[in-house]
Amino acid sequence: MPDTTTQRLLRGKVITLDGPAGSGKSTTARLLAKRLEFEYLDTGATYRAVALLAKRMNVSLDDDRQVDEMLGHFSLHFVAGSDRNRVILNDEDVTADIRTGEIDRLVSPVAAHQGIRRFLAAWQRERAAEGSVVLEGRDTGTVVCPNADVKIYLDASLDTRARRRQLDFQRTGQTVSVEEIKNDIIRRDKADTERAHGPLKPADDAIFVDTSGLTIDEQVEKVYQVCLTRLTGTGANR
Ligand code: C5P
Repeated sequence: MPDTTTQRLLRGKVITLDGPAGSGKSTTARLLAKRLEFEYLDTGATYRAVALLAKRMNVSLDDDRQVDEMLGHFSLHFVAGSDRNRVILNDEDVTADIRTGEIDRLVSPVAAHQGIRRFLAAWQRERAAEGSVVLEGRDTGTVVCPNADVKIYLDASLDTRARRRQLDFQRTGQTVSVEEIKNDIIRRDKADTERAHGPLKPADDAIFVDTSGLTIDEQVEKVYQVCLTRLTGTGANR
């Protein structure tokens, strides 16, 4: 935990962490937020939750009326947990339901939908408005909070990212081969980087961190030091 002077300097700041699937964003953002005593906002979970809702309501994404009606039924909040935060959609805990291979596939067209992106970006911005927050996603430093105090872009090799995703699946009792995961990651990277609205790309002023070969502790420490340097000029990474 930062000392009191550093804590005072950090108060109200906004930190964004963007990057592709498996780059270590979620774990790093969650642990960084804990260390800084900031809120943690997992924007990927908001897209996943809309994908789940669209599936359940059988919504056609080409039909604006159906999409608007669905977004009118969207009520989401997070409950802090010891590991991952619980995701509550319309009073139901959907933490496990939004992290299946099926939602991995369904989320790309949802994330490419301009109306849904506009709605979720506004939702996320509103939650980040008070500051003292770490946002994590694909466009948090470019679209959601372009004036963030620190912007970090995380990446890692495809092998590292696929192995991390496999561990995520194993933790929830799902068996998926590394090959299958690699194919899904390549497909999602392509969809995320090539879409017209809010594509995945580093902000011009983002700090690039490669997490390949780093342990979780090492990557959190590295990002923490980058943030301290940027925000207070006192990190070890000057
Ligand atoms: O980070 P996560 O893998 O949970 O994100 C799920 C999907 O949500 C991504 O594949 C991406 O298409 C989308 N997403 C997005 N913009 C964000 C966060 C996630 O388009 N800010």
